Amino acid sequence: MTENNEMKIGNLVGSALMVLNYGGNNDTISGYLRIKVWMDQTKPLLKGFYLKRTGKKDSWVRFQYERLFDFCYDCGRVNHVRAECNFLGESSKGGLKFGPELRAVFYQPGPTTSVF
Ligand SMILES: [Zn+2]
Repeated sequence: MTENNEMKIGNLVGSALMVLNYGGNNDTISGYLRIKVWMDQTKPLLKGFYLKRTGKKDSWVRFQYERLFDFCYDCGRVNHVRAECNFLGESSKGGLKFGPELRAVFYQPGPTTSVF
């Protein structure tokens, strides 16, 4: 994947600032690509997108977010929880649409340390 395509993926979420690559296999770490993105916090989080592949079935690419504080499992917006949601009813038909699977473990590169 080229950095141009990686930035396009980041721009689906917001404004891609840079691609964060820390080794791994072909610009990925354990199957993940990390992109630093400036996000509009008034918009719902994006859960992923379908990647079109020539001659193959489209593939679902799931997003996860680092440094994610409270977010609403109903409308997908940050800085509030479902009990405080002003958007209830817009998206809540049929149950919750968002969940903890959007939260990524924060990856901090640096020297390896061991605790005994
Ligand atoms: Zn909400």
